[in-house]
Amino acid sequence: MELLRNIRGQQKAVKFLTNTLSADRVANSYLFTGPAGVGKTLAARCLAKELLCENTSFGKQTRNASGLFGAAHALDEAAGHETIASGACGTCSGCRKVENMAHPDLLLVTKEDRQSVVISEIRKIKEVFSLKPFESAWNICIIEDAHLMNAASSNALLKVLEEPPGKSVIILVTHKKELLLPTVISRCLEIRFNFLPFEDAADIIKNTAEIDEKDAEFLAFYTNGSPGAALEMIESDILVRKDDILSKVFKILSNKGGISPAWDVEDRAELAGDLEFLIVLLRNAAVGRAGFNTAKYDVIFKGHEDVLTLLKKYSIDELYSVMAKIIGIKSAIEGNVNSKLASSYLPSVFSC
Ligand SMILES: [Zn+2]
Repeated sequence: MELLRNIRGQQKAVKFLTNTLSADRVANSYLFTGPAGVGKTLAARCLAKELLCENTSFGKQTRNASGLFGAAHALDEAAGHETIASGACGTCSGCRKVENMAHPDLLLVTKEDRQSVVISEIRKIKEVFSLKPFESAWNICIIEDAHLMNAASSNALLKVLEEPPGKSVIILVTHKKELLLPTVISRCLEIRFNFLPFEDAADIIKNTAEIDEKDAEFLAFYTNGSPGAALEMIESDILVRKDDILSKVFKILSNKGGISPAWDVEDRAELAGDLEFLIVLLRNAAVGRAGFNTAKYDVIFKGHEDVLTLLKKYSIDELYSVMAKIIGIKSAIEGNVNSKLASSYLPSVFSC
Protein backbone atom coordinates (compact mmCIF):
# COMPACT_ATOMS: atom_id res chain seq x y z
CA MET A 1 0.00 0.00 0.00
CA GLU A 2 1.30 3.45 -0.88
CA LEU A 3 2.16 5.54 2.17
CA LEU A 4 3.30 9.12 2.43
CA ARG A 5 6.80 8.27 3.66
CA ASN A 6 7.34 5.87 0.74
CA ILE A 7 6.39 8.18 -2.12
CA ARG A 8 9.30 8.29 -4.54
CA GLY A 9 10.86 11.24 -6.26
CA GLN A 10 8.97 13.94 -4.34
CA GLN A 11 11.17 14.23 -1.28
CA LYS A 12 10.65 17.96 -0.82
CA ALA A 13 6.86 17.82 -0.85
CA VAL A 14 6.76 14.69 1.30
CA LYS A 15 9.18 16.13 3.82
CA PHE A 16 7.17 19.31 4.09
CA LEU A 17 3.96 17.38 4.63
CA THR A 18 5.43 15.03 7.23
CA ASN A 19 6.97 17.97 9.06
CA THR A 20 3.62 19.72 9.30
CA LEU A 21 2.06 16.50 10.57
CA SER A 22 4.80 15.97 13.14
CA ALA A 23 4.30 19.50 14.33
CA ASP A 24 0.54 18.92 14.63
CA ARG A 25 -0.06 21.64 12.10
CA VAL A 26 -2.67 20.23 9.78
CA ALA A 27 -3.96 22.90 7.40
CA ASN A 28 -7.63 23.19 6.54
CA SER A 29 -6.87 23.59 2.87
CA TYR A 30 -4.01 22.39 0.76
CA LEU A 31 -3.22 23.06 -2.87
CA PHE A 32 -1.11 20.37 -4.55
CA THR A 33 0.41 21.82 -7.71
CA GLY A 34 2.89 20.66 -10.34
CA PRO A 35 2.94 18.76 -13.63
CA ALA A 36 0.33 16.13 -14.47
CA GLY A 37 1.06 12.54 -13.61
CA VAL A 38 3.73 13.05 -10.95
CA GLY A 39 1.80 11.73 -7.95
CA LYS A 40 -0.22 14.64 -6.57
CA THR A 41 -3.46 12.72 -6.13
CA LEU A 42 -1.54 9.78 -4.75
CA ALA A 43 0.03 12.10 -2.18
CA ALA A 44 -3.39 13.55 -1.34
CA ARG A 45 -4.71 10.07 -0.61
CA CYS A 46 -1.62 9.32 1.44
CA LEU A 47 -2.21 12.46 3.47
CA ALA A 48 -5.78 11.28 4.05
CA LYS A 49 -4.38 7.96 5.31
CA GLU A 50 -2.20 9.80 7.81
CA LEU A 51 -5.29 11.47 9.24
CA LEU A 52 -7.66 8.54 9.06
CA CYS A 53 -5.29 5.71 10.04
CA GLU A 54 -6.37 4.22 13.36
CA ASN A 55 -2.78 4.01 14.50
CA THR A 56 -1.63 7.61 14.20
CA SER A 57 -2.29 10.22 16.83
CA PHE A 58 -4.64 11.90 14.35
CA GLY A 59 -6.63 8.75 13.86
CA LYS A 60 -6.83 8.17 17.59
CA GLN A 61 -8.61 11.43 18.12
CA THR A 62 -12.28 11.03 18.70
CA ARG A 63 -14.80 13.09 16.89
CA ASN A 64 -16.04 14.49 20.20
CA ALA A 65 -12.61 15.66 21.25
CA SER A 66 -12.42 19.17 22.53
CA GLY A 67 -9.45 20.97 21.12
CA LEU A 68 -7.65 19.76 18.06
CA PHE A 69 -5.24 17.32 19.62
CA GLY A 70 -6.46 16.96 23.17
CA ALA A 71 -7.96 13.53 22.74
CA ALA A 72 -4.91 12.01 21.14
CA HIS A 73 -2.66 13.11 23.92
CA ALA A 74 -5.09 11.86 26.53
CA LEU A 75 -5.23 8.49 24.82
CA ASP A 76 -1.46 8.27 24.62
CA GLU A 77 -1.08 9.05 28.28
CA ALA A 78 -3.63 6.43 29.18
CA ALA A 79 -1.81 3.87 27.08
CA GLY A 80 1.46 4.85 28.70
CA HIS A 81 3.34 5.45 25.48
CA GLU A 82 3.88 8.15 22.95
CA THR A 83 2.76 7.94 19.38
CA ILE A 84 4.28 9.90 16.59
CA ALA A 85 2.00 12.20 14.69
CA SER A 86 2.83 10.81 11.28
CA GLY A 87 3.27 7.29 10.03
CA ALA A 88 0.07 5.65 8.79
CA CYS A 89 0.26 1.88 9.34
CA GLY A 90 -1.08 0.76 5.96
CA THR A 91 -2.90 -2.20 7.46
CA CYS A 92 -5.74 -0.94 9.64
CA SER A 93 -9.27 -0.60 8.46
CA GLY A 94 -8.92 3.21 8.12
CA CYS A 95 -5.91 2.91 5.81
CA ARG A 96 -7.55 0.17 3.77
CA LYS A 97 -10.76 2.13 3.35
CA VAL A 98 -8.82 5.14 2.06
CA GLU A 99 -6.86 2.89 -0.28
CA ASN A 100 -10.11 1.58 -1.72
CA MET A 101 -11.67 5.04 -1.69
CA ALA A 102 -14.38 3.64 0.54
CA HIS A 103 -13.88 5.67 3.72
CA PRO A 104 -17.08 7.43 4.76
CA ASP A 105 -15.11 10.48 5.96
CA LEU A 106 -13.27 10.95 2.68
CA LEU A 107 -14.92 12.55 -0.29
CA LEU A 108 -13.29 12.53 -3.71
CA VAL A 109 -14.39 14.93 -6.41
CA THR A 110 -12.99 13.66 -9.66
CA LYS A 111 -13.66 14.92 -13.13
CA GLU A 112 -14.02 11.55 -14.83
CA ASP A 113 -15.23 12.47 -18.28
CA ARG A 114 -16.81 15.78 -17.45
CA GLN A 115 -15.60 19.18 -18.47
CA SER A 116 -16.11 21.02 -15.20
CA VAL A 117 -16.51 20.65 -11.46
CA VAL A 118 -20.07 21.80 -10.93
CA ILE A 119 -21.54 23.76 -8.08
CA SER A 120 -23.64 20.86 -6.79
CA GLU A 121 -20.43 18.99 -5.99
CA ILE A 122 -19.09 21.90 -3.98
CA ARG A 123 -22.43 22.17 -2.20
CA LYS A 124 -22.10 18.53 -1.31
CA ILE A 125 -18.73 19.22 0.31
CA LYS A 126 -20.31 21.99 2.35
CA GLU A 127 -23.09 19.67 3.41
CA VAL A 128 -20.72 16.83 4.36
CA PHE A 129 -18.46 19.21 6.25
CA SER A 130 -21.39 20.48 8.30
CA LEU A 131 -21.90 16.96 9.67
CA LYS A 132 -19.72 15.16 12.16
CA PRO A 133 -17.44 12.56 10.61
CA PHE A 134 -18.71 9.00 10.82
CA GLU A 135 -15.69 6.96 11.75
CA SER A 136 -12.89 9.37 12.52
CA ALA A 137 -12.23 12.86 13.78
CA TRP A 138 -11.81 14.29 10.28
CA ASN A 139 -13.80 15.26 7.27
CA ILE A 140 -11.54 15.20 4.23
CA CYS A 141 -12.21 16.12 0.64
CA ILE A 142 -9.90 15.76 -2.34
CA ILE A 143 -10.78 17.76 -5.44
CA GLU A 144 -8.91 16.44 -8.47
CA ASP A 145 -8.38 18.76 -11.43
CA ALA A 146 -9.46 21.70 -9.31
CA HIS A 147 -8.82 24.01 -12.27
CA LEU A 148 -12.01 22.61 -13.80
CA MET A 149 -14.11 24.48 -11.27
CA ASN A 150 -16.21 27.10 -13.00
CA ALA A 151 -16.80 30.55 -11.54
CA ALA A 152 -19.86 29.48 -9.56
CA SER A 153 -18.08 26.43 -8.12
CA SER A 154 -15.01 28.47 -7.22
CA ASN A 155 -17.08 31.04 -5.39
CA ALA A 156 -18.99 28.36 -3.52
CA LEU A 157 -15.70 26.70 -2.58
CA LEU A 158 -14.30 30.02 -1.42
CA LYS A 159 -17.06 30.22 1.17
CA VAL A 160 -16.04 26.81 2.53
CA LEU A 161 -12.38 27.82 2.56
CA GLU A 162 -13.16 31.04 4.38
CA GLU A 163 -15.00 29.35 7.21
CA PRO A 164 -13.63 25.82 7.47
CA PRO A 165 -15.14 23.62 10.16
CA GLY A 166 -12.55 22.64 12.82
CA LYS A 167 -11.43 19.24 11.64
CA SER A 168 -11.91 19.49 7.96
CA VAL A 169 -9.28 19.23 5.29
CA ILE A 170 -9.72 20.10 1.63
CA ILE A 171 -6.97 19.11 -0.77
CA LEU A 172 -7.14 20.76 -4.17
CA VAL A 173 -5.09 19.01 -6.82
CA THR A 174 -4.20 20.73 -10.06
CA HIS A 175 -1.62 20.86 -12.83
CA LYS A 176 -3.03 24.19 -14.03
CA LYS A 177 -2.80 26.44 -11.03
CA GLU A 178 -3.03 29.53 -13.23
CA LEU A 179 -6.68 28.75 -13.92
CA LEU A 180 -7.67 28.93 -10.26
CA LEU A 181 -9.04 32.08 -8.69
CA PRO A 182 -6.27 33.97 -6.87
CA THR A 183 -8.56 34.16 -3.84
CA VAL A 184 -8.80 30.36 -3.78
CA ILE A 185 -5.03 29.99 -4.11
CA SER A 186 -4.36 32.43 -1.30
CA ARG A 187 -6.56 30.46 1.10
CA CYS A 188 -4.56 27.27 0.63
CA LEU A 189 -1.23 25.95 1.75
CA GLU A 190 0.52 25.20 -1.53
CA ILE A 191 2.67 22.10 -1.87
CA ARG A 192 4.65 21.90 -5.11
CA PHE A 193 5.37 18.63 -6.86
CA ASN A 194 7.97 18.25 -9.59
CA PHE A 195 8.82 15.91 -12.41
CA LEU A 196 10.47 12.84 -10.96
CA PRO A 197 14.13 11.98 -11.43
CA PHE A 198 14.25 9.62 -14.44
CA GLU A 199 15.46 6.66 -12.38
CA ASP A 200 12.52 6.93 -9.98
CA ALA A 201 10.04 7.48 -12.79
CA ALA A 202 11.41 4.50 -14.75
CA ASP A 203 11.15 2.22 -11.72
CA ILE A 204 7.56 3.24 -11.04
CA ILE A 205 6.60 2.78 -14.69
CA LYS A 206 8.31 -0.61 -14.86
CA ASN A 207 6.65 -1.91 -11.71
CA THR A 208 3.21 -0.49 -12.41
CA ALA A 209 2.92 -1.39 -16.06
CA GLU A 210 5.06 -4.53 -15.90
CA ILE A 211 7.02 -3.60 -18.99
CA ASP A 212 10.71 -4.17 -19.59
CA GLU A 213 13.37 -1.85 -18.31
CA LYS A 214 14.34 -0.44 -21.70
CA ASP A 215 10.77 0.64 -22.47
CA ALA A 216 10.30 2.03 -18.96
CA GLU A 217 13.47 4.11 -19.30
CA PHE A 218 12.34 5.37 -22.65
CA LEU A 219 8.93 6.42 -21.31
CA ALA A 220 10.45 8.05 -18.23
CA PHE A 221 12.61 10.15 -20.49
CA TYR A 222 9.95 10.77 -23.07
CA THR A 223 7.47 12.08 -20.49
CA ASN A 224 10.16 14.08 -18.73
CA GLY A 225 9.65 12.11 -15.51
CA SER A 226 5.87 11.80 -15.30
CA PRO A 227 4.84 8.21 -14.55
CA GLY A 228 1.17 9.17 -14.96
CA ALA A 229 1.73 10.48 -18.47
CA ALA A 230 3.88 7.44 -19.27
CA LEU A 231 1.18 5.01 -18.17
CA GLU A 232 -1.33 6.81 -20.35
CA MET A 233 1.13 6.66 -23.20
CA ILE A 234 1.37 2.90 -22.97
CA GLU A 235 -2.26 2.87 -24.06
CA SER A 236 -1.20 4.67 -27.22
CA ASP A 237 1.17 2.66 -29.38
CA ILE A 238 4.23 4.87 -29.08
CA LEU A 239 6.35 1.97 -27.82
CA VAL A 240 5.57 0.05 -30.98
CA ARG A 241 5.79 3.04 -33.30
CA LYS A 242 8.99 4.63 -32.05
CA ASP A 243 11.22 2.17 -33.92
CA ASP A 244 9.26 2.81 -37.07
CA ILE A 245 9.55 6.59 -36.61
CA LEU A 246 13.31 6.37 -36.01
CA SER A 247 13.75 4.19 -39.09
CA LYS A 248 11.87 6.72 -41.18
CA VAL A 249 13.99 9.57 -39.84
CA PHE A 250 17.10 7.57 -40.67
CA LYS A 251 15.91 7.06 -44.24
CA ILE A 252 15.17 10.75 -44.65
CA LEU A 253 18.46 11.92 -43.12
CA SER A 254 20.65 9.44 -44.96
CA ASN A 255 18.97 10.41 -48.19
CA LYS A 256 19.68 14.11 -47.78
CA GLY A 257 19.56 15.83 -51.15
CA GLY A 258 17.76 12.95 -52.85
CA ILE A 259 14.02 12.39 -53.05
CA SER A 260 12.74 11.99 -49.50
CA PRO A 261 10.78 8.89 -48.71
CA ALA A 262 7.15 9.60 -47.81
CA TRP A 263 6.00 9.78 -44.21
CA ASP A 264 2.76 8.01 -45.12
CA VAL A 265 0.78 8.52 -41.92
CA GLU A 266 -2.66 9.85 -42.61
CA ASP A 267 -4.39 9.31 -39.32
CA ARG A 268 -4.48 12.66 -37.53
CA ALA A 269 -3.90 11.35 -33.98
CA GLU A 270 -1.14 9.04 -35.16
CA LEU A 271 0.59 11.85 -37.03
CA ALA A 272 0.29 14.14 -33.99
CA GLY A 273 1.99 11.40 -31.95
CA ASP A 274 4.78 11.12 -34.51
CA LEU A 275 5.33 14.88 -34.50
CA GLU A 276 5.43 14.96 -30.72
CA PHE A 277 8.05 12.24 -30.79
CA LEU A 278 10.12 14.08 -33.40
CA ILE A 279 10.08 17.25 -31.29
CA VAL A 280 11.48 15.36 -28.30
CA LEU A 281 14.03 13.70 -30.54
CA LEU A 282 15.27 17.01 -31.94
CA ARG A 283 15.25 18.71 -28.57
CA ASN A 284 17.50 15.98 -27.28
CA ALA A 285 19.84 16.19 -30.26
CA ALA A 286 20.02 19.98 -29.82
CA VAL A 287 20.90 19.68 -26.15
CA GLY A 288 23.62 17.21 -27.05
CA ARG A 289 24.87 19.50 -29.81
CA ALA A 290 25.07 22.35 -27.32
CA GLY A 291 27.72 20.36 -25.50
CA PHE A 292 25.68 19.00 -22.61
CA ASN A 293 26.32 15.44 -21.62
CA THR A 294 23.20 13.63 -22.75
CA ALA A 295 24.47 10.07 -22.38
CA LYS A 296 21.76 9.41 -19.81
CA TYR A 297 19.05 10.77 -22.06
CA ASP A 298 20.13 9.13 -25.26
CA VAL A 299 17.91 6.21 -24.31
CA ILE A 300 15.45 7.66 -26.81
CA PHE A 301 17.83 6.68 -29.63
CA LYS A 302 18.53 3.20 -28.28
CA GLY A 303 18.92 0.78 -31.17
CA HIS A 304 19.01 3.72 -33.59
CA GLU A 305 22.26 5.43 -32.66
CA ASP A 306 22.87 6.06 -36.37
CA VAL A 307 20.02 8.61 -36.29
CA LEU A 308 21.73 10.50 -33.49
CA THR A 309 24.99 10.49 -35.46
CA LEU A 310 23.22 11.97 -38.47
CA LEU A 311 21.40 14.57 -36.39
CA LYS A 312 24.70 15.65 -34.86
CA LYS A 313 25.75 16.87 -38.30
CA TYR A 314 23.18 19.64 -37.98
CA SER A 315 24.12 22.87 -36.21
CA ILE A 316 22.09 23.90 -33.19
CA ASP A 317 20.35 26.58 -35.25
CA GLU A 318 19.45 24.04 -37.90
CA LEU A 319 18.07 21.64 -35.33
CA TYR A 320 15.93 24.39 -33.82
CA SER A 321 14.77 25.43 -37.24
CA VAL A 322 13.66 21.87 -38.05
CA MET A 323 11.98 21.67 -34.67
CA ALA A 324 10.13 24.95 -35.29
CA LYS A 325 8.83 23.64 -38.60
CA ILE A 326 7.60 20.46 -36.97
CA ILE A 327 5.88 22.45 -34.22
CA GLY A 328 4.28 24.45 -37.04
CA ILE A 329 2.96 21.30 -38.71
CA LYS A 330 1.61 20.09 -35.39
CA SER A 331 -0.35 23.29 -34.83
CA ALA A 332 -1.54 23.15 -38.43
CA ILE A 333 -3.06 19.69 -38.06
CA GLU A 334 -4.56 20.68 -34.72
CA GLY A 335 -6.13 23.54 -36.64
CA ASN A 336 -7.63 21.06 -39.10
CA VAL A 337 -5.15 21.23 -41.94
CA ASN A 338 -5.44 18.05 -43.96
CA SER A 339 -3.22 15.48 -42.26
CA LYS A 340 -2.33 13.77 -45.53
CA LEU A 341 -0.98 17.05 -46.84
CA ALA A 342 0.92 17.73 -43.62
CA SER A 343 2.35 14.24 -43.69
CA SER A 344 3.63 14.62 -47.25
CA TYR A 345 5.32 17.90 -46.34
CA LEU A 346 7.01 16.48 -43.23
CA PRO A 347 10.12 14.85 -44.78
CA SER A 348 11.11 18.12 -46.47
CA VAL A 349 11.58 19.94 -43.14
CA PHE A 350 14.79 18.00 -42.54
CA SER A 351 16.52 19.53 -45.52
CA CYS A 352 18.05 22.76 -44.31
ZN1 LIG B 1 -3.59 2.56 9.41
